[in-house]
Amino acid sequence: MKPPGSAGGKRCENKLSKSILPYRSNIFQSVKELPIDEVLGRYGIELHPTGGGRLTCQCIFHDDHRPSLIVYSDGFHCFACGAHGDTISFVARLLNVRPFEAAQDIARRFGLPVDQLHDRQQVKEQIKAATDQIESERALRAWAKQAYIKLVVLRRACFLVLDEPDAYYCDLMDYADEILDTLQFGSLSDKLAVLEGAKADKLGLPGVVMLA
Ligand SMILES: [Zn+2]
Repeated sequence: MKPPGSAGGKRCENKLSKSILPYRSNIFQSVKELPIDEVLGRYGIELHPTGGGRLTCQCIFHDDHRPSLIVYSDGFHCFACGAHGDTISFVARLLNVRPFEAAQDIARRFGLPVDQLHDRQQVKEQIKAATDQIESERALRAWAKQAYIKLVVLRRACFLVLDEPDAYYCDLMDYADEILDTLQFGSLSDKLAVLEGAKADKLGLPGVVMLA
């Protein structure tokens, strides 16, 4: 029999730390696979494209009067105050919490598991579901942007043919205004309802124009 503290005891200790470590490292890895711009968006940070194709915003870590913070695919850097880091450190500083708590908070917001991260396959599937969701939301936002432009053109055309009060064109313009409001200010589910309505041919001419 080996005494306590010998190689046998050490093996046991290693086994214990291994069972804890994957949990912590997995949540960091899972969160780092999410696009940083989408994560920041969930925390109300509005990013704007720069001329060079990068994304920028006003820095929240100093009193910024113009966009000084640049967001890269794998992190951020502020050219005024020097704040620098990755998605997790951004959220940690924003919420004033430790990086692990920030990673948990991000995971929760994207529907990733926070407590049961031992099953690698399950984690992979959940990351894929979260990134698929992000992609479909991006596609929906892009569609809404294009649909908005097309609908503005339709509205303008209605206005131009309207040389005297005409109930049909007046109604069409009012209806277009309603949809334009939704496309600009509505939630993602409102925008999705517009897209589905157009696809189901329930929105009349505006629907046809938005899908063209
Ligand atoms: Zn700054």
